[in-house]
Amino acid sequence: MAFCLGYSEPETGSDLASLRTRAVRDGDSWVINGQKLWTTGAHRSNWVWLAVRTDPDATPRHTGITVFLVPMDTPGITVQRHTALSGEVSCTVFYDDVRVPDSLRVGEAGGGWKVITDALAGERIVMGNIAAALHRQLDDLLAVVRADPGATVGPRGSARRQRLGALAVGVQANRALVATAIRAAAAGTGARVEAPMAAVMGGELAEEFGEAVLDILGPDAALSAAADGVPGGGVFEYGLRLAVTYVIGGGTNDIQRGLIARGLGLPR
Ligand SMILES: Cc1cc2nc3c(=O)[nH]c(=O)nc-3n(C[C@H](O)[C@H](O)[C@H](O)COP(=O)(O)OP(=O)(O)OC[C@H]3O[C@@H](n4cnc5c(N)ncnc54)[C@H](O)[C@@H]3O)c2cc1C
Repeated sequence: MAFCLGYSEPETGSDLASLRTRAVRDGDSWVINGQKLWTTGAHRSNWVWLAVRTDPDATPRHTGITVFLVPMDTPGITVQRHTALSGEVSCTVFYDDVRVPDSLRVGEAGGGWKVITDALAGERIVMGNIAAALHRQLDDLLAVVRADPGATVGPRGSARRQRLGALAVGVQANRALVATAIRAAAAGTGARVEAPMAAVMGGELAEEFGEAVLDILGPDAALSAAADGVPGGGVFEYGLRLAVTYVIGGGTNDIQRGLIARGLGLPR
């Protein structure tokens, strides 16, 4: 089952409760109109997990939101492809009089916020698990370093060796945090603090990793796989382009820090 996530809109990103795509009840169906942005993978998905406004007058605003699981081949859905920096296809999706049966509603009408926040906690654990890709990249980096330590990290105790060590520690710490978040989710707490912690750390580590690779291997590491003799075969260049996704997707790190602060009972 390939599905995509329809949350963000042209005027709605961090402030998801302000979303405007509308669904109006018509007998046993709902009629959806609006536009979503950054729907990653919409072009190859069978379903969209779609957040819409079913009650425009609800206060607070998030109580007027409902989630539907909509087949992507429903008449009225138009997909425009864009390519993100990472190479992923992230789409703009238009909904023009898209009719879906009430049976495709997920949860209560107006109860979408709970559905979304639970799903986002899961998505954040997935984002935090960039640690798994970084673990692989660390192995690739170590292979290049071991082939010529003198030219890459230099003598024992050098700043570059220490940076490499800090990366290795960061990767393991992030993997442990992801495992903690999964355990919290399985225990039914919703991982409301652990999931954003894992995601914030994963995104920052991915960026730090990209910068450290350039420091250790030099600017050649920023060449793509298409160039000859690139250290790591282009994997580090891809990592640099991918990293930015992980400090934005599933909520930016600023937003997630706010969630962590709230979860820990810190002042707003
Ligand atoms: C590669 C990629 C793939 C994506 N895939 C999807 C997808 O599949 N489905 C989907 O629905 N969306 C997707 N998104 C969208 C993503 O969720 C949003 O980009 C993200 O939530 C930020 O929203 P925005 O871009 O509107 O930025 P804005 O919300 O406009 O934020 C701009 C800046 O202001 C900061 N900011 C905003 N509000 C606050 C606040 N209250 N406190 C502190 N700082 C704040 C943000 O941190 C950010 O730095 C994707 C984005 C990218 C880049």
